[in-house]
Amino acid sequence: MAEHEEVGPVAGPGRPLRVAVVGAGPAGIYTADHLTAAPRPGEDPLLPHGALVDLLERLPVPFGLLRYGVAPDHANIKATGRALGAVLARPAVRLFGNVEVGRDVTAEELLERYDAVVYALGASQDRALGIPGEELAGSSSATAFVDWYNGHPESEHPDLVSARSVAVVGVGNVAVDVARILVRDPEELSPTDVPQDVLDALRHSRVTDVHLLGRRGPQHARWTTKELRELGELSGVQVVLDDGELPVEDPEGTAAATARNLSVLREWARRAAAPAPRRLHLHFGARPAQVLGEGRVSGLRLERADEEGRGTGEHWDLPVDAVLRAVGYRGTVPDGLPFDDARAVIPTEEHRMVRDGHVVAGVYAVGWIKRGPIGVIGTNRSDAKETVATIVGDASGLLARHRVDPAGVEALLAERGIRAVDVEGWRRVVAAEAQRGRAHGRGEVKISDWQQLLDAAQRTASG
Ligand code: NAP
Repeated sequence: MAEHEEVGPVAGPGRPLRVAVVGAGPAGIYTADHLTAAPRPGEDPLLPHGALVDLLERLPVPFGLLRYGVAPDHANIKATGRALGAVLARPAVRLFGNVEVGRDVTAEELLERYDAVVYALGASQDRALGIPGEELAGSSSATAFVDWYNGHPESEHPDLVSARSVAVVGVGNVAVDVARILVRDPEELSPTDVPQDVLDALRHSRVTDVHLLGRRGPQHARWTTKELRELGELSGVQVVLDDGELPVEDPEGTAAATARNLSVLREWARRAAAPAPRRLHLHFGARPAQVLGEGRVSGLRLERADEEGRGTGEHWDLPVDAVLRAVGYRGTVPDGLPFDDARAVIPTEEHRMVRDGHVVAGVYAVGWIKRGPIGVIGTNRSDAKETVATIVGDASGLLARHRVDPAGVEALLAERGIRAVDVEGWRRVVAAEAQRGRAHGRGEVKISDWQQLLDAAQRTASG
């Protein structure tokens, strides 16, 4: 692990602010970015002596939701990785991958060693529907499916690719992602970094019909227009939508984004789409009531709901072989941190962590673990900027709070025999993924096994 060089926007007496950021996803890396960016010409530096940031990441590799949430066929969003990678390459930033706060190092130990600790833990758990039958084989979270196709090292092979008909509950962008991956021609995924075993499994998929289910009216769907439109442009896929499900006119006060979505849906309902080998069915006012089946899924019982999602008591059964719930994410925190269970976030006041109604000096939160799972990757950039502004405002108090250990967490990890993955190790993983891709005649192909990631990161130039 390279030592921090004593760099910052300005050299001189005093010392840089030492910050630990927990979580090297977009929110964490954008926080490191704002803390260590050189000031623009003519602008004063944020901090007179700059900041040194240690990024601690539970997984062996950085980028969080960018690597494990964004769908492989969304290359333009994934390109954000280049900017995030440039932040990791700064001398004022160190990466400690494969280090779990709460297991390898405690929250208290971090606070003793740094001026400030910023939690950027994201929201990686799924939410349940809370209906009977949800535990049946063939019923799972979209998160599990997304983790699998994105090569998350803790994911399992889902059995739903042997299904022919899949219900996707929810009409947000995650539902759109999983529906698209299920019906898309897998050959179109070959140029992406999707793991080879995933590509092979999708090539053998028997899925012909995917049902997207919104519990309220279409004006309440949470997808964004760009993502929605993409569903209508997939080759070999027919979108099936009954225009009786759509309002004839936009309800009064309809937001511009909603009006655009409704117009896309109306166009689909109007056009006589040619029959295609795979179909994407859109349903609204369809509230899941029970997952049906003996041992494994054979259908989904739905209750007709009004525009606002209130049940009408009328039920019908949709015959499907698998159910994926794409009804949002939930954050979790290591033991010892305060947690608002209802919102699944760290409670904060102006980005500062709050415990039992009191601000905890030196501890902050950023991204989904603070705001909840809403917004796109770029939202974390402005969030990080605001969070850093609060830290900078607190800086003089933070610097006076206590003496910090210039080695940060490094000595402690060495004592405990934990081999963290640094930025050089991450670069070796990228090189190994490129090599793996070449072997398959593809571009970079993700390594999805935890040990293989560690082996690639720790391989020496001669090994
Ligand atoms: P989301 O946008 O909150 O959508 C969740 C969906 O689940 C909503 O349609 C919601 O309906 C529905 N739902 C919740 N509880 C339900 C229940 N018990 N029964 C039936 N339906 C239920 O969440 P998400 O799709 O997980 O996305 C999370 C964030 O990531 C969003 O901000 C999204 O835009 C972003 N994201 C962006 C992209 C992209 O830019 N390409 C891709 C993926 C994710 P109600 O509205 O009725 O509650």
